[in-house]
Amino acid sequence: MSEQPVDEKYLLSRTAELLEPLALEVRFNCDFHPEAVAETTCVRCGRGLCAECAAGAMPDFICRTCRSEAVKKKIFQYSFRSLRWPVLWVLLCALIAGIAYWQGVGNPDVAELTRRDAKAPWYEQSLGKLYLAKASRENQRAAALRELKRPDEAMVWSGRAALSFARGADYWKSAPGGPLMRIGEAMSLAYAGEPAAALKLMQELKLSDDVPAYPGYLYKCGQICELGGEKEKALDYYRRSLESAEKRAESGRDFDSLLTLLSSSKPESKLLASIQQICGVNLKYADLCEKLEPYHIVPQRRSGVRPEPVKQPLKKSSEADFTVEVLNQEKR
Ligand SMILES: [Zn+2]
Ligand SMILES: [Zn+2]
Repeated sequence: MSEQPVDEKYLLSRTAELLEPLALEVRFNCDFHPEAVAETTCVRCGRGLCAECAAGAMPDFICRTCRSEAVKKKIFQYSFRSLRWPVLWVLLCALIAGIAYWQGVGNPDVAELTRRDAKAPWYEQSLGKLYLAKASRENQRAAALRELKRPDEAMVWSGRAALSFARGADYWKSAPGGPLMRIGEAMSLAYAGEPAAALKLMQELKLSDDVPAYPGYLYKCGQICELGGEKEKALDYYRRSLESAEKRAESGRDFDSLLTLLSSSKPESKLLASIQQICGVNLKYADLCEKLEPYHIVPQRRSGVRPEPVKQPLKKSSEADFTVEVLNQEKR
């Protein structure tokens, strides 16, 4: 067989003819430029890419849509990664704080305080101080409410103060602060509408004359009687308190409590001074003279004559005004 010369032209046209239906099927356009024929496809999504798009998709043949999605994903990943440590730290701190709180840091329970306190001297015992601080706050609140003429609320707060004073007094039973706290308790009790119980409490205290707070104690007894409407008894206590203060002043033991006690560097004295102030028994002789002047109770030795027993000291004011006036005097 002799070889026939290959008609290349024929071959090409024949091949094209055969391939034409196939080529039509295979050929497709760029997804971004519908008029241009696709030269390649995106390796991720398979979108058709024309020559121009393919050039833009170099070197990894990723179309612009896939690329922007990839960028977005990357940004999210980076931001997540940059947040990871701060978030972990916050969680760690929260965990540590939680464990510390669970272990009782900054949240001591009473039993633990009592145990720890028992070994310390009374003036360093936190539980007593906590009750004192609580009582003081409640007392002040009650006084403010009285001043605002909201007696019902004031009585509630006085009751709370009485309870706090009582707890502190129980705790400091055998310490010098205990009896002073009882005075505070009795006073709050009287303001809470229980003057009889308050006076009983005061009498049970059996304070001796040499206690620096003695004149203040007698004065408070008088106030309690007055709150209970027993004017004569009140006046008697007032007179006795002034006498006691006078005796002290004469013997050079005048109870200049806060200054004397505060000038002492002993922590015990400082605490005693604050208790006396909170319970309102830190009365100097001069204070007492001033407080009792409206009752016509004057110091004997200063005036030179023994004051006449005062039967009706406040003729000008009615019975209802009696307490109010005295309270106003007190504020001055
Ligand atoms: Zn793609
Ligand atoms: Zn294109």
